[in-house]
Amino acid sequence: MSLIVQKYGGTSVGTLERIQTVADRVGRGSKAGHQLVVVVSAMAGETNRLLELAGKLAVQPFEREVDVLLSTGEQETAALLAIALQERGYAARSFLGHQIRIDTDSAFGRARIRSIDGERLRSALQRGEIAVVAGFQGVDEEHNITTLGRGGSDTSAVAVAAALKADVCEIYTDVDGVYTSDPRICPQARKLQRISHDEMLELASLGAKVLQIRSVEFAKRYNVPVHVRSSFDDSEGTWVVPEEDGMEDILVSGVSLDRDQTKITVRRVPDRPGIASAILGPIAAANIVVDMIIQNASAAGDADVTFTLPKTDFRRALAMVEQTAQSIGAQEVSADTDVVKVSVVGLGMRNHAGVAARMFDTLAREGINIQMISTSEIKISVVIDAKYGELAVRALHAELVEKPPPAET
Ligand code: ADP
Ligand code: ASP
Ligand code: MG
Repeated sequence: MSLIVQKYGGTSVGTLERIQTVADRVGRGSKAGHQLVVVVSAMAGETNRLLELAGKLAVQPFEREVDVLLSTGEQETAALLAIALQERGYAARSFLGHQIRIDTDSAFGRARIRSIDGERLRSALQRGEIAVVAGFQGVDEEHNITTLGRGGSDTSAVAVAAALKADVCEIYTDVDGVYTSDPRICPQARKLQRISHDEMLELASLGAKVLQIRSVEFAKRYNVPVHVRSSFDDSEGTWVVPEEDGMEDILVSGVSLDRDQTKITVRRVPDRPGIASAILGPIAAANIVVDMIIQNASAAGDADVTFTLPKTDFRRALAMVEQTAQSIGAQEVSADTDVVKVSVVGLGMRNHAGVAARMFDTLAREGINIQMISTSEIKISVVIDAKYGELAVRALHAELVEKPPPAET
């Protein structure tokens, strides 16, 4: 008998028929003798629908109330799945975040899980019940409802699996695994049998929304075996695992596209100590995560500072930067919301030079201009014009994933 945590994403519970299909699958697992905790997302589109409702009443609704609102999406599916299971004769019980004490900090809309008291879930399992948990939500010290950021049900699931020391956390979704690129953009993408935590962390942070990044952090830290697979069939999916021998032999294991990018440039700021901190300090203090930063000095004693940040924070950040620019005597602030970030990721890059050159050469051949570049040990990212995003992904996939690697010299 295994203890299995299963997570079903929005599309997989998108209609009552799909919830019935999920109930059948969960039921089969239970009949096979497994102990099951099932974490559910809101029905597809529901979180966006709720966000739009709030947006119709206020330009910037209070984040606390937005979390109260958004958490209802997952509450709905948890109850519906429990009802569907009970109707099939299974003992099932739904749990909301606060009922199993998924404790988080108070960062509404992007809360981090601090701890989970698995006691109520364990007792439910001991009673022979199937526990159905509303994903994406938790509770802070003051008993406020919090949510974990878009895609957060993945993190709920892996965190619950870690707390219960589950044998496996199965992430059921609308693709049958993790691919070398988003299969909706790149038809040549192929399914990976296994991917290392570090590569998956990079891909998740670079726009591959198949797993929320924090879920991969939990999986790595607590060594939770994660199996990403399809809710539509029984095929074997992709295992997210610690690094194994041979993984470094593959140069590039994924190409990703992040559309959630905007770019702000402050032109001709005086080139003296403290300028970057004057511009970026207030943004960091407002909890906005800046991604790439470049500063280039001119011979005339001034500099341009350019950085990228998520679309949701763009308006707030721009207002702050405009204020700072005035106070430090910068010439102008310009912004570009039509940019994307394209990245290539692979453990093999640690030991092989030349991937960057091949990447830039491929983009040049397609006539795509690179606006910014950033690298780490196992990834290279570029910011480019949004309209070339998908073309860049396909071209880079063809060159760096589909082609055999060049012979060693
Ligand atoms: P769920 O609602 O089940 O959480 P998501 O929409 O959040 O599903 O994530 C699954 C989607 O992630 C897929 O439909 C696919 O378009 C996208 N995706 C992006 N990059 C990848 C990748 N490398 N491998 C698989 N899917 C990917
Ligand atoms: N319903 C939330 C979202 O749409 C959480 C999730 O699906 O993981 O982002
Ligand atoms: Mg998701």
